[in-house]
Amino acid sequence: MRAKKVTVFPEPALFNPLTFDAEICNGCNMCIDVCQVDILYPSPEEGKPPVVLYPGECWYGGCCVAICPRPGAIELRVPLANRVHWKLKNLKQDTKTG
Ligand code: SF4
Ligand code: SF4
Repeated sequence: MRAKKVTVFPEPALFNPLTFDAEICNGCNMCIDVCQVDILYPSPEEGKPPVVLYPGECWYGGCCVAICPRPGAIELRVPLANRVHWKLKNLKQDTKTG
């Protein structure tokens, strides 16, 4: 099979969900394999961090960070609007009458 040259450009987005530390990342691309929506693409330079090709499609589940074997190589930046914290409601107290 003949190798084909592919040219890709990252999709423009207002927010980039991932940042990489090029000093720590060794370009193993495990984060690319685990991403369920395929937003990452291998770097054209071997041993370098992946390219975030579709930043607007991230689900913010964090599988890419969890699987990374090199702590600090990848950071997920969750947008402020997605940082919801649920609190258990005290039903007994809240339904008390009188
Ligand atoms: S957080 Fe999830 S969707 Fe976003 S890049 Fe990581 S694995 Fe892919
Ligand atoms: S961020 Fe982690 S999993 Fe992704 S290429 Fe770099 S070292 Fe590998």
